[in-house]
Amino acid sequence: MFDKILIANRGEIALRVVRAAREMGIATVAVHSTADSDAMHVRMADESICIGPPPSPQSYLSMPAIISACEISGAQAIHPGYGFLSENANFVQIVEDHGISFIGPTAEHIRVMGDKITAKDTMKALGVPCVPGSDGGVPDLETAQRIGAEIGYPVIIKATAGGGGKGMKVANSAAEMERAFMTARAEGKANFGNDEVYIEKYLTTPRHIEIQVFGDGNGQAVHLGERDCSLQRRHQKVLEEAPGPAISAEERAKIGKICADAVAKINYVGAGTIEFLYENGEFYFIEMNTRLQVEHPVTEAIFGVDLVREQIRVAAGLPMSFTQDDLQINGHSIEVRINAEKLPKFSPCPGKISHFHAPGGLGVRMDSALYDGYSIPPYYDSLIAKLIVHGRDRPEALARLARALGELIVDGVDTTVPLFRELLNEPDVLSGNYNIHWLEKWLETHMGE
Ligand code: ADP
Repeated sequence: MFDKILIANRGEIALRVVRAAREMGIATVAVHSTADSDAMHVRMADESICIGPPPSPQSYLSMPAIISACEISGAQAIHPGYGFLSENANFVQIVEDHGISFIGPTAEHIRVMGDKITAKDTMKALGVPCVPGSDGGVPDLETAQRIGAEIGYPVIIKATAGGGGKGMKVANSAAEMERAFMTARAEGKANFGNDEVYIEKYLTTPRHIEIQVFGDGNGQAVHLGERDCSLQRRHQKVLEEAPGPAISAEERAKIGKICADAVAKINYVGAGTIEFLYENGEFYFIEMNTRLQVEHPVTEAIFGVDLVREQIRVAAGLPMSFTQDDLQINGHSIEVRINAEKLPKFSPCPGKISHFHAPGGLGVRMDSALYDGYSIPPYYDSLIAKLIVHGRDRPEALARLARALGELIVDGVDTTVPLFRELLNEPDVLSGNYNIHWLEKWLETHMGE
């Protein structure tokens, strides 16, 4: 096992990794930009190293700075968290070339899954059901028009290198194709340096259901059920829950096994998430994330496992600490993402936290790097806290979420907390009757979006 690991991230996820490492008796090294000198992850880690100025490309994305920090501190492994360098195959290669372990999958697996076309081809070959669409990239508008006519409108044009909801455009008819095609290409080029796009049938009322998988890199893999992440704004998840209110035990076992078998076959190592759209009882693969997800705590809650601990174990060459049979679902869990944003426009709202009080009590978990007097810097993601509740069943989890939100105090900046308080009065949310468009429509009528 490692003696010391470096965490190439910030905020709540850096803290999350510190917590797992400390319980395992592993020392931690935090890295930070000059904007984060007073950040909680820096305070909580055993050591910290400043790696550059505030803009991420010069600090949290700077590979030379992070590798140097590793060498100076003597850390034997790097945990990337999510975002930043977590799905950068080039980074993983460089880390390994320096004799440092990467706590995550291999560069090759990240590369394959990071390109959405290759990922889809790979998953198809492994027996995972996919959304109907173009076979590979679509070179020009003419081909796009032809494919659109073949699979039938609406279709979605997606940048093959896309992520975070960027580089995706819907065309409802042939007339909308040109604009959607050009915009998806331009967004792919501008955000990811790659203008290749592909086309998929646009599903009109699906749920977003993702399967958590975990592999040991030696042909063993398990699944940890699904998370329903259908409540989204601009393709970004807002609330996640597990198990999915619409998924039966039989469906879970079936799709779970398909996913676990697929990753076992490719000797996948570590945590991964296979994302699907789910409509009329069918699952359609959309992408695989080769890292820990923001919403991993809901899975941890219902299975009673520590996914970060497990990631560190398999990265150190140890076997997984559970088998498929050990993994039994207990109760229901919901997470809400609390962002420093001003409603109704969700505009970023960095600033100083004058008072912070985290909720507590049975079944309540708060993953946050906030503290009284902390100044949220304007340079990074606006996620400031994740509130996760666990109950014996869904109604208990919902009641607990409402109760915990009532206890939470974040003064000094605007947050998305009022949105959740309102959502918990909605019959559709209470009954779990929603799809990926539900929240957008609700925001239109309630917040004039
Ligand atoms: P990203 O990598 O940007 O997160 P994904 O491929 O995971 O992109 O898609 C994100 C979201 O976009 C999905 O959760 C869903 O809401 C929507 N989406 C993606 N593909 C389709 C599709 N074929 N039909 C309908 N909605 C889709």
